[in-house]
Parts: sequence; C-alpha cells; structure tokens
Amino acid sequence: MDLGIKGKRALVCAASKGLGRGCAMALAEAGVNLVINARGAEALEATAAELRKFGVNVVAVAADITSEDGRAAVLSAAGSVDILVTNAGGPPPGIWSDWERADFIKALDANMLTPIALMKALLPGMIAKGWGRVVNITSQSVKSPIPQLGLSNAARAGLTGYVGGTSRQVAPFGVIINNLLPGIHATDRAVSLDTGVMKARGITMEQAQAERAAEIPARRYGTATEFGATCAFMCSQYAGYMVGQNILLDGGAMNATM
Ligand code: NAP
Repeated sequence: MDLGIKGKRALVCAASKGLGRGCAMALAEAGVNLVINARGAEALEATAAELRKFGVNVVAVAADITSEDGRAAVLSAAGSVDILVTNAGGPPPGIWSDWERADFIKALDANMLTPIALMKALLPGMIAKGWGRVVNITSQSVKSPIPQLGLSNAARAGLTGYVGGTSRQVAPFGVIINNLLPGIHATDRAVSLDTGVMKARGITMEQAQAERAAEIPARRYGTATEFGATCAFMCSQYAGYMVGQNILLDGGAMNATM
C-alpha cells in the first residue's frame, strides 16, 4: 500500500531503539525524509545508517528531548516538518508512596510537557501548509492504569487530555493528531520492566517473560515493526479522518468491549 507520504519530512523523537526506531523505519520505507533523535550518539548513528538504506535523507541529532536545550537543538535541525512522532523514555516503576513532587515534575516534563512543547513549536508550520500529522507514543496505561507505573499513568493522562482538545482545534486546518498506545512490546524498556518482576519475585527472566506473555490474549509481546507500521499508517494520507484517537496495540490485554 502506498501511504501517499513519499517526500514528506518527519521528526521522530527517541528513535535510536525500540518503538521510536520502529516508527522511523516504517516512515523511511514509505519514502519519508527523517530527523531522528536520541541521547546516545552511537546507537543513533547506527539507526540513521539503517534508515538511509531506504534512500531517504536522514539527519541525526543526539540530545535529551526532555531538556529545553535538547529540544532547541532538535527543533533547529528539524526546521519545518510535515510529520511529528513524539516519544521519550518512560518513568521508573514504584509504589504510590515513593513519589515526591520532584518525581512528578520530572515525569510530567518528559511524558507530558515535552510532547506539548514540540507540538506548540511545529503545529503552526503544519497549519500554514494545510497538512500535518502528529503521533504521540503514550501507553496502554492511559486506558488501563498499571499500578507500579503511577508516574507514567499520571503524565500520559495529562497529555491525552491535551491532545483530545487540541486535535479538534487543528483538524480544520488539515492537521491530524492522534496517540498510539503500546501494550507490552519486545524492547529494552520491556527487558527493564521484566528485570524488575524477576528481582521482586525471585524468578528467572524467562519465567517473568512467560508469565507476562501468558496474560496477553495474543500470547506474545508486540514487535517494533508492527508498532511502526501502525504509526506510519497514522501519518499517512489515509488517516485524515482519524482525529484525537487513542489507538491501543496490546495483543488484546485490555479486556473491554470498546
Ligand atoms: P526503549 O526500547 O528503551 O527505547 C527508548 C528510546 O528512546 C531509545 O532510543 C533511547 O535512546 C531514547 N530516549 C530515551 N530517553 C530519551 C530522551 N530523554 N531524549 C531522547 N531520546 C531518549 O523504549 P521503548 O520500549 O521503545 O519505549 C518507548 C516509549 O513507549 C517509552 O515512553 C515507554 O515507557 C513507552 N511504552 C513502552 C512499552 C513497551 O512494552 N515497550 C509499553 C508501554 C509504553 P537513548 O537512551 O540513547 O536516549
């Protein structure tokens, strides 16, 4: 399927590994030129080299997207883009009594205020062109809270509320914003959460992963390739009537009629 976005320009944040990388790969396959970001330069350059194999232009900016300076560097390299995929690392797990104000501020900065700042910076250019796509990578925790990820639950719920309203304010200008909600996917983030389960319960990594997979109707973790393909569709010409939605990719883990 031709997604109709060949030659467009996208900024994909936190894209050297995992889900962000999956999104960048699928967009490159669709012929989209890319600006990609992550903190570590080595993995970022390796991903940029893979993306260039699709024949697209790739600019890599090593920076912390959650810091003001990092965002300024990324936005300056990106210039005007047609597509924005927001992403950053997720907050650490814990229990409700662990988290102080500073922990919440950090989580809100990373997973709510950073995507909002990126949208504020890039939406005007999309509105001026009469075409734009934004996909925010959030989490299944928006629909079904994960008790040990209270910081994530809180920050991503705030972003979801902002997107719900803003997506309807910019849709008249051809600019489409949606959120993409990962359930458990086989990435470094999943390994780090599996390690927490392994240590807390005194079981092996294989047992921890098997137990978590057994709770998913698809009986496996998702892949970054599947996730990226969905993201690319949400950035395509065909997603123009999908406004302010929260698209869940969780192998059926959340048991709900809708
Ligand atoms: P991952 O495999 O750990 O990859 C994270 C990527 O983000 C890496 O490229 C990392 O590179 C980059 N990154 C992290 N912090 C950054 C920052 N401050 N600035 C710029 N780049 C940054 O994680 P993932 O599984 O793809 O997860 C992506 C998002 O989805 C996270 O917010 C996570 O909480 C959420 N999520 C994941 C799952 C899952 O099962 N995988 C489920 C629900 C939600 P550097 O470290 O070099 O910066």
